[in-house]
Amino acid sequence: MARYTQAVCRLCRRQQDKLFLKGTKCTTDKCPLSKRNYAPGQHGPTKTRIKLSNYGVQLREKQKVKRIYGVMEKQFRRYFAIASKSKGVTGKVLLQLLERRLDNVIFRMGVGLSRAESRQLVRHNFVAVNGRRVNIPSFSIKTGDAIEIRAKEKSKKGLRENLDISKDRTVPTWLEFNSAEMKAKVLRLPEKTDIQQTIEEQLIVELYSK
Ligand code: SF4
Repeated sequence: MARYTQAVCRLCRRQQDKLFLKGTKCTTDKCPLSKRNYAPGQHGPTKTRIKLSNYGVQLREKQKVKRIYGVMEKQFRRYFAIASKSKGVTGKVLLQLLERRLDNVIFRMGVGLSRAESRQLVRHNFVAVNGRRVNIPSFSIKTGDAIEIRAKEKSKKGLRENLDISKDRTVPTWLEFNSAEMKAKVLRLPEKTDIQQTIEEQLIVELYSK
């Protein structure tokens, strides 16, 4: 399964926006975006910023969402194809599909400090859904699913520290989370209002509909 393995802070600098890809570092003054708020690369500091065309704006929004959720182009297109064939509003369904990914759910619970860390927890067999271990980060959860962290006490200690660090990040209301037992229940499917980052999904729909 392909994934981006280069320095992720470059992605925020390219986007000129915080994408929160690095966990705790993102909320401290170590975040490179606060010191170097220009595009990455040799010519980044001197390059004059040009006004983006409509296409440029749509492309940037699509790249932003892909990067936030750690999804590559092929998989993102697949999500879009599913969303456009569904009965609901395409943009809304697209965001819902991304939010329902198992790695995102672990991140939303606060067990993983970033989606990349959450993805690793899933890959390393730390997560069970409805009593069965699932190691597929893109696994799509549904209403009523019970998600549980299954790990030895030694590993759970580190995850409890994560929960402590992320305690200011509120768990969305579509999840009922028991932090002591590290278990969550999906009460309903996520809505756009549950996503704190600003996403203009309509731009992505326009881009892919050309
Ligand atoms: Fe982006 Fe976080 Fe890196 Fe800052 S620290 S540039 S928010 S990934």
